[in-house]
Amino acid sequence: AEQAQAANTFWRQSVANHGKLERSLSLMSDLEDAMAAGHIEVFYQPKLSLSTNRVTSVEALVRWRDPERGFIGPDQFIPMAEQTGRIQALTLHILAIVLNDASHWRSLGYPMTAGINISATLLTSKAFNDEVEALLARSSVPAGDLIFEVTESAAMDDQEAAIVALRRYRDLGVAVSMDDYGTGQSTLSYIQLLPLSELKIDRSFVQFAHQNASDAILVQSTIDLAHRLGIKVVAEGIEDEACLEFLRANHCDLAQGYHISRPVPVADLLRFVGDVRGMAA
Ligand code: C2E
Ligand code: MG
Ligand code: MG
Ligand code: MG
Repeated sequence: AEQAQAANTFWRQSVANHGKLERSLSLMSDLEDAMAAGHIEVFYQPKLSLSTNRVTSVEALVRWRDPERGFIGPDQFIPMAEQTGRIQALTLHILAIVLNDASHWRSLGYPMTAGINISATLLTSKAFNDEVEALLARSSVPAGDLIFEVTESAAMDDQEAAIVALRRYRDLGVAVSMDDYGTGQSTLSYIQLLPLSELKIDRSFVQFAHQNASDAILVQSTIDLAHRLGIKVVAEGIEDEACLEFLRANHCDLAQGYHISRPVPVADLLRFVGDVRGMAA
């Protein structure tokens, strides 16, 4: 009976895995169609400056609007796009959309810095970085309107190659942000080798920093370290006023989170910035 049960479990798992695989494959073959059809959209989440109380930078976050399956978030297709080699085309597509939006913001007299997430697999890809350089050369948008967000763990994979890639971005004029800081294992000596403009403290440390002493120490010492290195600090995942106040009191530069704004479609961004923070768009 035990054997029969094991066989049964095995059978059910195989069917489940097969179903999953089939869904992934069909999702991935649809990705190219989705890009062509304009179903890959970029939402923007404001980064609020705590010194000026203004929003002049945002993070681009991809969303897939599928007519049949509905809304698909990045966690549901970015890892697959990475594994199936489609992340390069997808990221270049997103970059083109962001450059177009950035050019529009400039034409309105409201230039903004746009953060773009760069997967670990792309960071050290020469083919990808060549394409980025070509795209920037063709765009009227200054490279300085962009900041590439690279996760701490991506920068740790192959440190030599990561340093080379980050320096190339810097030489192009694109700023670099270290995303999800605190979740990787980078050392101070390594951090100071990287040409960083911004460091984003991971949500998991920020969220309870106003209540939890060890999280508070991590956040305070990161802000202090970054400032000594001339790097700006963004705290991500701000969900309430108490958290925002803690960050203000500790001289954090920028804050991002649902309490300030959820990621919004591009059409809502300037309206949001104008309405909520009392600025003309
Ligand atoms: P991330 O770069 O760390 O982005 C922050 C994520 O936290 C976003 O989720 C954002 O919506 C969410 N978030 C923002 N504020 C809050 C908050 O106050 N509370 C909570 N609980 N969450 C908050 P999203 O958009 O689902 O993206 C998830 C991850 O997917 C991103 O993490 C990033 O690693 C990846 N991703 C998103 N867009 C892209 C893209 O265009 N390319 C690549 N390669 N990865 C992307
Ligand atoms: Mg990010
Ligand atoms: Mg640019
Ligand atoms: Mg992050």
